[in-house]
Amino acid sequence: MSLELSKKISAVKPSSTLQLQEKIIKLKKEGRNIISFTVGEPDFNTPKNISDAAKKAIDDGFTKYTAVTGIIELKRLIANKFNIENNLNYSEKNIVISNGGKQCLSNALTAILNEGDEVIIFTPAWLSYKQMVKIAGGIPVMVNTNDNYKIDINQLEKNISNKTKAIIINSPNNPTGAVYTEKELQTLAEYLLNKDIYVISDEIYEYLNYTNEKHYSIGSYSKEMLHKTITINGFSKSYSMTGWRIGYLGANEKIVEMINKIQGQQTSNVCSIVQKACVEALTGDKKEVINMIKTFELRRNILINYIKAFPYISYKKPEGAFYLLIDLKNIIGKKFKDNLITDINVFAELLLENYDVAVIPCIDFDAPTSIRLSYALSEDNINIGMQRIKNMLEEIK
Ligand code: PLP
Repeated sequence: MSLELSKKISAVKPSSTLQLQEKIIKLKKEGRNIISFTVGEPDFNTPKNISDAAKKAIDDGFTKYTAVTGIIELKRLIANKFNIENNLNYSEKNIVISNGGKQCLSNALTAILNEGDEVIIFTPAWLSYKQMVKIAGGIPVMVNTNDNYKIDINQLEKNISNKTKAIIINSPNNPTGAVYTEKELQTLAEYLLNKDIYVISDEIYEYLNYTNEKHYSIGSYSKEMLHKTITINGFSKSYSMTGWRIGYLGANEKIVEMINKIQGQQTSNVCSIVQKACVEALTGDKKEVINMIKTFELRRNILINYIKAFPYISYKKPEGAFYLLIDLKNIIGKKFKDNLITDINVFAELLLENYDVAVIPCIDFDAPTSIRLSYALSEDNINIGMQRIKNMLEEIK
């Protein structure tokens, strides 16, 4: 034998957004006034009623192992939420509660993939999908979306092979902010009707939807579609609970059985206290959540007002989540002071070094000439940061 490490994991890229986060923390510690548009989490406190429920769970001694897939009380509430808000006919037997949307996705992929199975991911895409597919032994197949960042069925058709096991859809979308309409998802469901392909529908940003249309879950299209769909959701973004690490999925009972095995052997249940806090999230007052959503919409509008006047850029107005994707292909090859901007990473580095503004360069999101701005920061900081970006763009020749 040799001491060689796993080939599969060696081929996985570390998260560049988390690495950038570490760099920003370091620069801030050195005293730099960094305005960061990189954050992937709401900048609001978890609502007090939710935190209080966690404290009560501790005081009540609710601190032991629970069932692997979660406490029945919370699974019933989640199934109820899926039924009422998403028209998804799940019962508690269809629910698994895991350590964030991330573990839900990774469990789902592990449950359905065999070595070499292909998973279609539509680009631009959240950077973790591709790596998660690889970790689960699958092959990611990246498929471009159209000019509106929506799925192009012709492109999809060209990329489906006899190895295609699943597609991953994400609405509202990270990083584009695109929100699929009911009609668009019904067209996709119709296309997939007679195909043995799973749909992993990542709906983690469901509540952050600034359109007039209600969020649509593709699994609600028909009984067959529900059977083939794994619906991912969670508390991180909707309830500002990123650090609590809790997400959930709905799937057919066979898949749930598989995930019960995976999670049971690997991590067991999500923290018991956090599960009680989530019971309160689903049953208690939603005032703070509603306020948060309104604030995000307002900030989105402020950002858009700024960038309308910026040189070089192109963008699509985001309709959900808290991200704005800006294409800067027109600056590649130009100069900032004496520096040649050879790619989007160089632009982001120059912006950070010269103007103390951090943005995410989106090469790992398969948007190689774009940056992503998160608007999970205060209005004051948005104003300062956008002015700095404008100043830099105006210096590019
Ligand atoms: N899905 C998308 C598109 C995301 O952007 C994220 C987090 O950034 C997640 C899933 C996972 O969220 P969490 O694991 O915090 O629940």
